[in-house]
Amino acid sequence: MGTLILWDVDHTLIENGGVSKANYALAFEILIGHKPEHPAKTSGRTDVLIVAGILSDNGEDPGPVTDRGQFAALHRAGDENRDLLAERGHALPGAAEALTHFEADPTVINSVLTGNIEPNARTKLSTFGLDRYVDFTVGGFGAESAVRSDLVPVAQANTTERYDFDRDEDVTVLIGDTHRDIDAGPSASDLVHSSRCLSTRETPT
Ligand SMILES: [Mg+2]
Repeated sequence: MGTLILWDVDHTLIENGGVSKANYALAFEILIGHKPEHPAKTSGRTDVLIVAGILSDNGEDPGPVTDRGQFAALHRAGDENRDLLAERGHALPGAAEALTHFEADPTVINSVLTGNIEPNARTKLSTFGLDRYVDFTVGGFGAESAVRSDLVPVAQANTTERYDFDRDEDVTVLIGDTHRDIDAGPSASDLVHSSRCLSTRETPT
């Protein structure tokens, strides 16, 4: 096959203009019944960790909140804030061009590795017309694990099921904007030696 490119979403392909944090605040309100005083901490964390963080930072016990409940709240928040995202956010410069470039190469698969649950990743990319370049069926999403590096083998296994892709022979490239994106590469490489990690903003050392 060749290369599996796993793009991060927020601040790699799109600028969300603060709407991601608004989504977590709204999800908190849906789950708890009032607005949070303290905002979510995001920066490459997965949705499970972000929700647990905003709950505990606001004095709420994350224990009773089920995965199913939080994912439903996040999905609803992402849908309700879609117009706000269109208003405040934008595709990052060069994102469409880069995706188009790799999409034209038959040896490359474009997908995503993101802490977002899948429906919210789809909403974020489709709002800016970037969803057409990405195969969501093979991606790694925040509902799969709280640990970002765990999403790499998930995406690789999905890709092996759908394409002629061998995670030991072929190459997996992560592209992201935070140290957590960077760390997911070496962490996953402990399991999968062919993984490499690149960043749009940071230089691996
Ligand atoms: Mg990001």
